[in-house]
Amino acid sequence: MSTPVTTSLNTWRPVSQADRVTARKRGRICAVEGCDTILSIYNPARYCSVHVDEAQDACRLRLAHATRTLACEHCGAPFETRNAHRRYCSDRCRMAAFSRRKRLAQRAERRLEQRTAEAAAREEAQRVGGAA
Ligand SMILES: [Zn+2]
Ligand SMILES: [Zn+2]
Repeated sequence: MSTPVTTSLNTWRPVSQADRVTARKRGRICAVEGCDTILSIYNPARYCSVHVDEAQDACRLRLAHATRTLACEHCGAPFETRNAHRRYCSDRCRMAAFSRRKRLAQRAERRLEQRTAEAAAREEAQRVGGAA
């Protein structure tokens, strides 16, 4: 009877074809002009470690400043914004949506209270009826 030994070998494995493909050519340098840092063959980016952050920041900035047209979640009117998190066309809609949500929450709470009271009354009636 033999037990498989694969678990003990899991930490080591030969370089697969896929790994070889991701390894880049030697001698690539950072894509930033004036920077001649040689990139590691394992670095998939086009920039050295110093410039890769800056490149990503520039990307984020471009995205953040892109104007897009969204539909107001309250009145449905289209509005242009550079803020991807904006959901309403105006402060008025934002406030209206907020108080509407509050009203709905209050109504739901009241309904729940009512139902609990009704259930308690029913239970009490059952208890009294059963005892009689
Ligand atoms: Zn660089
Ligand atoms: Zn609106």
